[in-house]
Amino acid sequence: MSENSAMLAPDLIEQLQQKTAMLWFNPNLGGELPPTELTATAIQVAQERLQRSQALLCHLFPELIEHQGMIESALLPLNQAEQKLFPQLELSTQAIYLKADHELAIAGSIKARGGFHEVIAISEKIAIEHQLMAADQDLIRLASPQAKILFSEYTISVGSTGNLGLSIGIMAAALGFKAVVHMSVEAKQWKKQRLRDRGVEVIEHRGDYAAAVAGGRAEAKRNPKCHFVDDEQSALLFLGYAACAEYLATQLKQQQRVIDREHPLMIYIPSGVGGAPGGICYGLKAIFGDAVHCFFAEPVASPCMLVQLAADTDQPVSVYDIGLDNKTEADGLAVGLASSLVSPFMRAQLSGVFTVEDPQLYDNLYQLKQFENIEVEPSAAAALQGPVWINSAEAKAYLAAQQVDIQKATHVIWSTGGCLVPQQEMQKFQKLGQDIYLSQHSH
Ligand SMILES: *Cc1c(COP(=O)(O)O)cnc(C)c1O
Repeated sequence: MSENSAMLAPDLIEQLQQKTAMLWFNPNLGGELPPTELTATAIQVAQERLQRSQALLCHLFPELIEHQGMIESALLPLNQAEQKLFPQLELSTQAIYLKADHELAIAGSIKARGGFHEVIAISEKIAIEHQLMAADQDLIRLASPQAKILFSEYTISVGSTGNLGLSIGIMAAALGFKAVVHMSVEAKQWKKQRLRDRGVEVIEHRGDYAAAVAGGRAEAKRNPKCHFVDDEQSALLFLGYAACAEYLATQLKQQQRVIDREHPLMIYIPSGVGGAPGGICYGLKAIFGDAVHCFFAEPVASPCMLVQLAADTDQPVSVYDIGLDNKTEADGLAVGLASSLVSPFMRAQLSGVFTVEDPQLYDNLYQLKQFENIEVEPSAAAALQGPVWINSAEAKAYLAAQQVDIQKATHVIWSTGGCLVPQQEMQKFQKLGQDIYLSQHSH
């Protein structure tokens, strides 16, 4: 254990080291946000940028025409929630939804939101600098032959455990950039292959996610015409995620779900470095304030946001610092150190974190398929335990302090990835899940 762990309570360290699922509440919830340029206006700018790119996205990816070029997903009621998925919860009404980012086109995961936004924002900036367009114009101009020639002189690179690489690599290549993705050890072979098939250069690193990011960052520094998408520090990624909040608010209205202090919104999202779930939480807080309660789900081996927030320090504290190995089947969540951009926001806004054991991921993934016919990847299955935790004895004190009557809440489980997983891989996941499910539920 490193000296950084000294800032954590010994009993919490001990609990985390046991690697059994747990629920942790953030004692600093409701504190002050750090000073920031990431204002509500900045979120609005990102949202408008994504609107201005709808024609561009339809042009680059005809499969997006049916969605009018919107990077958006359905809000699905989990119809079997009461009887099958959560029979132990006494829920009187249909109140549990799945936000279906596992269906997001092109990138196949939540990373489409932040990743596409950043690549488009960078392209826009380069095009404006070269007088190919003016500010605030429709971004279809980024698809012109002149723009393509211009972009071919530039490189866009990223370090990733897989899904961010898919998102950035595919969008950058489609616009004509040279695209380079630095992958960490846990990145799946099919993700590397998919990128190479699209003309993206994939560089494999022997280290973990942080090592892949560091490798990419160092290489980008040497090349002034290279933009590095920095998952640990990027405001453009963060704002791309935050931009989704308004559409979710619209979807909840369409479902006739009232959201206010008395009828709170409970959000459960899997977290890796914290960028995607942090941005979403930040965007939702800007709209719903105290009426939204956000919880992150992290693997027991990789609870990096939990560790960072519990240590309550500006110094980075990683899961390695407390002797965890960051080894999990949830490749999208295998991150040892939380984003230094995002964790100060989450210190003030995140309600808590629950951890998930790997077998539970497969159990969840199998049940979603069996009862709802929804296929997700292991990382995306992490949040499904959210409603169980919030109904547990461990949550009573929190709910009382927040004056939350859980019967009046709307629950949104964020499903973060899966539609690109090859059938063969998915069948392996399902088989594993079935074995675990049957052994858990047979008695
Ligand atoms: C990246 C990812 C997450 C978490 O996002 P972070 O920004 O790394 O916290 C969750 N689920 C899936 C499937 C992902 O790819």
